[in-house]
Amino acid sequence: MSDSHKLYDELVSKYKEYSVLSTVQGVLHWDMQVIMPPEGAGRRAEQLAILAGLSHEKLTAGRIGELIDKLNNSPNGLSEAHRANIREIARDYQLATKLPKEFVEEFSRVKTLAHEIWAEARTKADFGHFAPHLEKLVALSKQAANYYGYKDHPYDALIDQFEPGGTAKMFTKLFDEVKAANIPLLNKILHSSVKANRSILNRDYPADLQKKFGEQVMTQVGFNTKAGRLDVSVHPFCSGGKGDIRITTRYNEQAPQQALFGVIHETGHALYEQEVSGDYLFTPLGEALSMGMHESQSRMWENFIGRGKPFWKHFYAKWQAIFPQQTRGVSMEDFLLAINHVERSFVRVEADEMTYDLHIILRFEIERDLIGGQVSVNDLPTVWNKKMQDYLGITPPNNGKEGVLQDVHWSEAYFGYFPSYSLGNMIAGQLWNTMRNEIAGIDAKIENGQFSEILNWLREKVHLHGRRFGRDELLTKATGSALDTQHYTGYLSHKFGELYQL
Ligand code: ZN
Repeated sequence: MSDSHKLYDELVSKYKEYSVLSTVQGVLHWDMQVIMPPEGAGRRAEQLAILAGLSHEKLTAGRIGELIDKLNNSPNGLSEAHRANIREIARDYQLATKLPKEFVEEFSRVKTLAHEIWAEARTKADFGHFAPHLEKLVALSKQAANYYGYKDHPYDALIDQFEPGGTAKMFTKLFDEVKAANIPLLNKILHSSVKANRSILNRDYPADLQKKFGEQVMTQVGFNTKAGRLDVSVHPFCSGGKGDIRITTRYNEQAPQQALFGVIHETGHALYEQEVSGDYLFTPLGEALSMGMHESQSRMWENFIGRGKPFWKHFYAKWQAIFPQQTRGVSMEDFLLAINHVERSFVRVEADEMTYDLHIILRFEIERDLIGGQVSVNDLPTVWNKKMQDYLGITPPNNGKEGVLQDVHWSEAYFGYFPSYSLGNMIAGQLWNTMRNEIAGIDAKIENGQFSEILNWLREKVHLHGRRFGRDELLTKATGSALDTQHYTGYLSHKFGELYQL
């Protein structure tokens, strides 16, 4: 074995210690949110804090830095995959070592307190209560951006943690394109004479039957139940990895679409993790590429496939069989329109496919200007409401659950996270168009409940590569070009044009 291979093996085994510890934290988080009794919180906090410290120690060990330097100086004999793994381990190492320990601890304390205050302020719709804490979070985030370093805009350093290489400039351009297409389309839809009968979804749909149907869909699209499970939690999520992937949902008996599309969404995340290459387990090449790429998978299954006509041509009879009374007199077309109902709404997590990006764009623009210093914390309620009016044509009745305090992200200083959600839509649009050209008769296959070709296509083009390529490189290999928003905006205008007869 050559020297560089020995060094590579040592580097990977060191990284693996960090990676395995992170997955242990993941299992404890899952347990905390799914089955832990309430009084276990204190005990769990201690367990998680020790593990967080340990895994950080593993990742920032000086030996990792030495190995990276040695390998970069003599990369002879290493394969392209090895080099990609070294590059990505170096990225994680550098990000983790840039923040001083005291800063991380201080930031963590401020976040814990701010999160509690945010929850109170949100309930009372009292922005002033949260504002001083948000000031601190913004200041610390700007400081973190300085530690990380950036070229153009401090927000770039924050985005980069979730979406490697993503910048304020890049997203401003992408979002301007999406805004220009989506706002006029939204107005047309709202003026269409076609109206969804949303009330058919407000009937009583027992949770156990919803679960039964959700599991049927999950397994049919390719979720391996021997390597994963579905449970209930307050906030739906997906955690774990190849061999053991956990997804959760919550059931609202008067709104079955919430759990149903939640399950399909999380299944999309799970399929990505289930299919990632097993040869590189516990290394970057065995991890998902980015938040945006992850969202492209969940949103493709949830919206592009799961809210599409071919999907319901297959599943509607099964839905009716499980809910015979609730669906009496409801045609597949009625149902399809109800699950694709478009409206101006205040709350991002309940927004429909058509308005969702506008909620994200608003948050992106605010974060960019907040971190850039053009907007101050005290201006937020005013700026928020103005943008809601400009983009969605409505003004929130309060600053709480329906306004500026609705999302958890800022209370945890997750600045830079929001753009990933919409980026996922754009990536999904592009993959979708290429896939439709490459899989002959794709709609007929979906109508017949055959999803294996779709899953195979996604596996080959996206899942198997883990973090081997950057986003644009992967997209170019998969679709022939770097990210182009026209695929996504074209998809929306085609889909909603047909549904609403525009
Ligand atoms: Zn998601």
